[in-house]
Amino acid sequence: MAKDPVCNMMVEEGDAVATVDHDGSTYYFCSKDCAEEFEENPEDYT
Ligand SMILES: [Zn+2]
Repeated sequence: MAKDPVCNMMVEEGDAVATVDHDGSTYYFCSKDCAEEFEENPEDYT
């Protein structure tokens, strides 16, 4: 399990709706909205 850094929900890596690679790490998201929010402001979530 990985934590969606935007909404703090636990996400199963295999079931993640969206993933984003940032600074050498992969982040998993419950929704495209969370992934887009992360991509707009990654510094707020890392
Ligand atoms: Zn989310």
